[in-house]
Amino acid sequence: MSDPIRHLYVHVPFCGRRCSYCDFSIAVRKEVPATEFSTSVIGELKRRSDRGQLANLETVYFGGGTPSKLGGAGVAGLLAGLRAAGVVFGEGAGTPAFGVGSIAGSGTEVTIEVNPEDLTQEAAEAWLAAGVNRLSLGVQSFSPEALTWMHRTHSAGQAHEAVRVARAAGFSNLSIDLIYAVPSRVHRSWDDDLTAAIELNPEHLSVYGLTIEPRTPLGKWTARGAELPQTDDRAADEFLEGHERLTSAGFEHYEVSSYAKPGRRSRHNSAYWRRVPYLGLGPSAHSYDGQSRRWNIAALAAWEQAVAAGVDPVAGTEQLTAEQNAAEELYLALRADTGARLSGADLVAARSWVAAGWATEESGLVRLRAEGWLRLDALVGALSR
Ligand code: SF4
Repeated sequence: MSDPIRHLYVHVPFCGRRCSYCDFSIAVRKEVPATEFSTSVIGELKRRSDRGQLANLETVYFGGGTPSKLGGAGVAGLLAGLRAAGVVFGEGAGTPAFGVGSIAGSGTEVTIEVNPEDLTQEAAEAWLAAGVNRLSLGVQSFSPEALTWMHRTHSAGQAHEAVRVARAAGFSNLSIDLIYAVPSRVHRSWDDDLTAAIELNPEHLSVYGLTIEPRTPLGKWTARGAELPQTDDRAADEFLEGHERLTSAGFEHYEVSSYAKPGRRSRHNSAYWRRVPYLGLGPSAHSYDGQSRRWNIAALAAWEQAVAAGVDPVAGTEQLTAEQNAAEELYLALRADTGARLSGADLVAARSWVAAGWATEESGLVRLRAEGWLRLDALVGALSR
């Protein structure tokens, strides 16, 4: 008997243009076919053999791509379609916890990723009325030069305005994404970006280091020598500066890239790190049932064609071995502030991390500090599992 699934992810692939650093599975569209896309998502759900494991949902997460491109009516229509297909939201069967009163910590956490230019008053009100209670804003930087270099489709002013509109509409759970380790040539002040983000007073921040993927515009600029990656030392300094500034401002640094005000941690992402089952719908979406993983066809058209033909749009599956499960559990526990319980030679190794100032240890429970998270892969790789 498989475990119940209480977390749902929907991948919405549409974007206005490709950001210079992005290698996600996206579909660039001027006009987004929201109704057709929702029909395909519901079509996939109805054909999924693991649909029966869906229990009352604790979290729903619309990621992408740019889910806000669906607009107010598009997101509302998709949520209504999921409910009509039998998906139950909230803590009690038949008592969906949707609506303005549904805040983080009580009912289902319903998050959509939003680009600032899409956050109009009309859209915010429609999302809130439909049950969305958490917005994750793709701000990345407040520097005009950095935003242009990143190929972002919004300005710093639009990021400020998006937060104002969201608050005015009644959203009380906002997250802001920022990117550090941008090449020095861009002349972006990380310090200024942290100040601007703190002043907007979000409940949550996700802070990612810029990575250079070969197939992206940035990867190509770098390959031909037109761009120089940030140095490791400077990237580490910016990571630690982010930790210092944000924890001083009252945020808990609860996972390598994640900061939250008390009680405002992402319940959806925390479920991934706890390795509990989740179901993913949409092109390229991953699912995990507690023992195996599956992932969908990545290309939008091929995914849609499979669904329309009544075929499961799965691209691959992986049955995890006991060793893989143990290694993954260890890695995820150490990347979050929950930490991992270690013994034997692993605990001896971890005590050397404590001596170096990279971790804390109490009765075998090892938690990495920010300095340890900088070295996460190397530290985990040195353990015996
Ligand atoms: S908005 Fe997000 S998903 Fe879309 S291209 Fe930019 S980084 Fe990629």
